[in-house]
Amino acid sequence: MSRRALSFADARGSRRSFLQQTAASAAVLACGDSWWNAANLSGAESPDAESDLLTLSEHVHVYCGPIQVGIVRDGHRALLIDCGDGSVDRVLPTLGIRSVEQILCTHHHRDQVCGAYRWADKGTRIAVGQAEREYFDNPADYWNEDAHLWRVYRSFRPHPLMLTEPLRVDQTLVEGQEIRFGAAKIRVIDTPGHTDGSISFVVDADGQRVVFCGDLMAGAGQIWDVYSLQRGFQRGGDSVGGYHGFMGDQWRLKDSLSKVVQQSPTVLVPSHGPVIRQPEQAVRLLTERLDTCYENYTSISALRHYFPNLMSEFAGRPSQMPIRPGLPVPDCLRHFGTTWTLVSESGGALVMDVGSDHVVKHLQGMLDREEIRSIDGLWVTHYHFDHTDGIPHFQKTFDCPCYVDRTLAQVLQQPRAWRLPCLATVPIRIDHLLDDGQSWQWREFKLTSYFYPGQTLYHAALLAERDDLRMLFVGDSHTMAGNDDYCAQNRNFLGRGKGFPYCLSLIEKLRPTHMFNCHVQDAFTFTDDEIRFMRDTLDRREQLFGQLVPWDHANYGTDDSWVRCFPYTQIALPGSTIKIDVVVTNHAEHDQTTRCRAALPSGWGGGATDWQQTVIPAGREQSLSLTTGRESHRTSARRCSKPATPLRRTAPGSASLSSTR
Ligand SMILES: [Zn+2]
Ligand SMILES: [Zn+2]
Repeated sequence: MSRRALSFADARGSRRSFLQQTAASAAVLACGDSWWNAANLSGAESPDAESDLLTLSEHVHVYCGPIQVGIVRDGHRALLIDCGDGSVDRVLPTLGIRSVEQILCTHHHRDQVCGAYRWADKGTRIAVGQAEREYFDNPADYWNEDAHLWRVYRSFRPHPLMLTEPLRVDQTLVEGQEIRFGAAKIRVIDTPGHTDGSISFVVDADGQRVVFCGDLMAGAGQIWDVYSLQRGFQRGGDSVGGYHGFMGDQWRLKDSLSKVVQQSPTVLVPSHGPVIRQPEQAVRLLTERLDTCYENYTSISALRHYFPNLMSEFAGRPSQMPIRPGLPVPDCLRHFGTTWTLVSESGGALVMDVGSDHVVKHLQGMLDREEIRSIDGLWVTHYHFDHTDGIPHFQKTFDCPCYVDRTLAQVLQQPRAWRLPCLATVPIRIDHLLDDGQSWQWREFKLTSYFYPGQTLYHAALLAERDDLRMLFVGDSHTMAGNDDYCAQNRNFLGRGKGFPYCLSLIEKLRPTHMFNCHVQDAFTFTDDEIRFMRDTLDRREQLFGQLVPWDHANYGTDDSWVRCFPYTQIALPGSTIKIDVVVTNHAEHDQTTRCRAALPSGWGGGATDWQQTVIPAGREQSLSLTTGRESHRTSARRCSKPATPLRRTAPGSASLSSTR
């Protein structure tokens, strides 16, 4: 039976409740120590070490746990603003609180509300913004929709920090709505940016005005992450979709921030990061930093080639690398679709990428017209579907070997184990795995394949040499305007020896006479000065984005896969044990200890796996293995139902892992 047939929408009837609790549910990675330890929050206003409790006034407190939870007190009753993992219940008795009457949610992310279920079960009223209600009612719609998992291109909202199980909602909130709770008056304002439907709460009590702003910001001049801002936008008369929208929601975020400042709050409480006593300065610093970071990004962006007006507001500034015209293409090359084909003197063809069946047809036509005599091989630049969709048809049509870089091959051979943008789900047959720098002779050309972490981390480049020609095929990584790093989810790392800085050093070493992008007709090159300019810009970017986020390195802010499950999806049979590898990238420049466990869906009996811990060396990626094999979980799963068919279980990785130094 196909997995599609098991999607939640089709699974009405007797299996419904089981599916609600299992197939639709993803494992949640639970928090280790608090987020306070995860990020470098030096200078933060630390919570009271004993109680993790910060008292803002007689009736308003903040629990500083994995996230900051607002506690509004009225005698023995409390109203919470967000509730994080629920560990806030430890401090409630110290305030004399015996019951939680209401929980108000700023947004739907798991780290905000994953602890709310047990209160909801006991009758606590849950209130959420109207725009995000569907994510609380029916998260299965997200997890069971392939368009959110595979071939993700147009939109990166909502983010996979989606809840894994429905949370009962008692009230939806709209802008301007007021909630009275004891001495406090609470007003709702819309503050989109971090998510489309984020709201903030303006709490007037005891002569103070405290704004709980969720993840709108994370401390003075900082946001919790940059990848959440990935969104399509319009600028200068051009418009782009989500894939091209790096920091695309920054303008709405800035509007929301100024709306918060207009409330004249005395204190600002973000979900992550320190409580802010000088909101206006904190917001001004964040706005300035966002502007500076964005200008740095635009200055060497490849996107300026494709959408000349999108960043025209910066044109002519010294920050912007001038764009040189392209170069004529050597006679030995043909370009159609996203495919470059290298043609030898004897008529042999080496094909690079096959983005669609049209390419196969085109190649067949070239053979028929004797423009080429044979197709000798296929080499692949990267995994995006506009470069690979035609490969299965190509391989059925032409009998030739497929050459792929070893790192990229991991994705192409097992695509469903990954969660990456523009990823097709059909595995590719690979005949020759290539090591970084491996050369071979093909006809009169010397070919060398390189690992090339440019447009994506899983990307390759090919150098083809003949006589004075040194042609470097860089996939989608550059245009003559600079680097293609406009989709944060592609994992473009900053730092010397990583990502684009690594690629630029390789260009410097290889000194190509021509470079080729799969989407660009002309050839191009970069001068030594341009390479130096780009590298300096990236060095500066590492610093700037490092300041923008409260983490040990800028890459934590832009890489939403720094913690991920491998494989990303698995089929789990009722009663079976499954193993999840949690792969953690340590982006910091020092070793870090990581702890994680999986919080299991209720259909698995709830609870959690045992904690696993490891030390990850600086700059390295390492796995921790979690096994869901405890007897109690198997028993519970059997008790729920016994469907004859396997169920999909999705394991989102970027949930609530913490790492401690
Ligand atoms: Zn969030
Ligand atoms: Zn691409």
